[in-house]
Amino acid sequence: MIRSIGLLVGLSLALCAAEVSKQPNIVFIMVDTLRWDHVSCYGYERETTPSWDRIASEGVRFETCIAASSWTLPSVMTMFTGLPPAIHGVHTYHDRLPEAATTLAEVLSSAGYQTAAFVSNPTMNAKFGFGQGFQHYDDYSVFLTGAVRALPDLTNDASAHGLRATGASISAMGLRWLRSARDANKPFFLLLGYFDPHADYEPPPPYDTRFTDPAYTGTVDGRGMYGRRKPIDNPADRQHIRDLYDGEILYTDHQIARVLTALDTLELTNNTIVVMISDHGEEFWDHGGLLHGHTLFDELVRVPFVMRYPGVIPAGALEQGLSAHADVMPTLLSLTGNSAAITTQGQDLSRRWRDRPPATVDVTFSDTRLAKGGLFAIRNHQHKLVSATKGEARLFSLASGSDEAVEATDISARLAAQLALWTASCEAAKLQGEERTVPTKLDPETMQRLRSLGYISD
Ligand SMILES: [Zn+2]
Repeated sequence: MIRSIGLLVGLSLALCAAEVSKQPNIVFIMVDTLRWDHVSCYGYERETTPSWDRIASEGVRFETCIAASSWTLPSVMTMFTGLPPAIHGVHTYHDRLPEAATTLAEVLSSAGYQTAAFVSNPTMNAKFGFGQGFQHYDDYSVFLTGAVRALPDLTNDASAHGLRATGASISAMGLRWLRSARDANKPFFLLLGYFDPHADYEPPPPYDTRFTDPAYTGTVDGRGMYGRRKPIDNPADRQHIRDLYDGEILYTDHQIARVLTALDTLELTNNTIVVMISDHGEEFWDHGGLLHGHTLFDELVRVPFVMRYPGVIPAGALEQGLSAHADVMPTLLSLTGNSAAITTQGQDLSRRWRDRPPATVDVTFSDTRLAKGGLFAIRNHQHKLVSATKGEARLFSLASGSDEAVEATDISARLAAQLALWTASCEAAKLQGEERTVPTKLDPETMQRLRSLGYISD
């Protein structure tokens, strides 16, 4: 819902049509399940991410971006509302975004933008509210039988690998929209949701062998990662899984490169903000587990985040301060001249390079309801306090680059007090609405896809 800004926006459109046409475009690239420390420009020793590296070198890299949650649904909803899950209220598959929420796409749409999205993670189904504000929200094409044949500009590897590799399809649909479906006289907001680094880890050739050890003789192949009964204990098997995951990342990155190249070819690069971000990471036995959603350790909640806007964001900028998913929307609204439209819970990160007082945030918050009873975390640069709904809070040191449990100190009490304050303020601000729950059951096909991903066990 856009509250009372429609008239204001309408007036500004009428008075400043020329100005509006100069508003920057936005290409929002969301890569699912991408660990920050498997991205080359964040120091990973493998060259997995030339596209991330390019945008970082031509724009800004946020060193420590913290996810709202450790799985897709609440995290992505936070990116597109600027509100933490405790306020937007979308914690599980029983929740949908209340109409009272105002999304990034809604504000931009009211400001004259064309808004389009192409996503392939079934969790980003429009039924949860992800489509709110998008004039075109495509969460279905990659799943349609025969969809590949219906898209003649898809590459052969997408045809051959179908749903095992959806990155090529997302890029193809996004490029087709960019080249022929949009109105070239209007600014656009294009969301592309890439999914391949998410389990299962089945990169298409040649990415399936790009990082794997040719001498590997084990039987683990990256399939059946959800619902797996037999643990993976052998170090060679574990490394093979990581190698396949890296193959998925490189495959995805090469698909993203096609979009970045098209922006150059279409001469859109200079007036387009490119955002690249992940919704959460992935655990590879860092704390004894696998996959995501179950903890709030940094392998799951620290995410890569880079942004490019030529002429506004200095090339090669590095921001060391804490940033968060909730910051993405206010930052984009500020950069597009729409920051007066709505108040979010995030900070405008563009203040840091736009001659205005720097924003300072000393803590970030994350939560997940996939963990039994729910987990809540508050984090600064040095420490993280993780609190269970039922149980004691535990303090972790981040000094070694990973979460290490330490003895509770006065730091614990201070962080616990901040967390309690934040929780209470979120409760008071929680969005209310008639559509708090998903009103109808998801269609059987979506249910089956979510089940196959391990998100639903019934
Ligand atoms: Zn995800």
